[in-house]
Amino acid sequence: MPEDCIFCRIVTGDIPGRIVHETDHAIAFLDANPLAPGHTLVIPKQHYARLEDIPGEEAAELFGAVHDLVPQIEAAVDADAVSVGINDGEAAGQEVPHSHVHLVPRFEGDGGGPFHAIAPASEEPADEELDEIAATIRGD
Ligand code: AMP
Ligand code: ZN
Repeated sequence: MPEDCIFCRIVTGDIPGRIVHETDHAIAFLDANPLAPGHTLVIPKQHYARLEDIPGEEAAELFGAVHDLVPQIEAAVDADAVSVGINDGEAAGQEVPHSHVHLVPRFEGDGGGPFHAIAPASEEPADEELDEIAATIRGD
């Protein structure tokens, strides 16, 4: 574990965290600078910088925890919805290099935006371009 990783230190209990859920390989705690009441971070207990670094079984457990927590958090803070997101990589806004899933409770009229607000709208792509990107992702 990197000595200076804040999230690893929360896992070991070295620094305090308001833990709300724990499994063998995942743990969830309240964000210290919440975007809304109940803003929670779900992380793998092991240190992995990026989503792709997390082994499949641990990733499945992580997303299982996300799945369980969303309704619990929504009910706990009487929210109308939850935004679920990962800043996966620095260019996406990741500041803590220990992969984590944000669960941000949302309220009708809270003034926040949808997922589509995080990136500038790209120009309408041509069908050929979409076909090519899809084929590349598939590995054709
Ligand atoms: P990101 O920008 O996706 O890397 O998000 C990092 C998140 O970690 C931010 O929302 C911070 O408020 C949160 N954070 C940083 N330090 C702590 C801490 N000690 N305990 C809980 N949350 C933290
Ligand atoms: Zn870490």
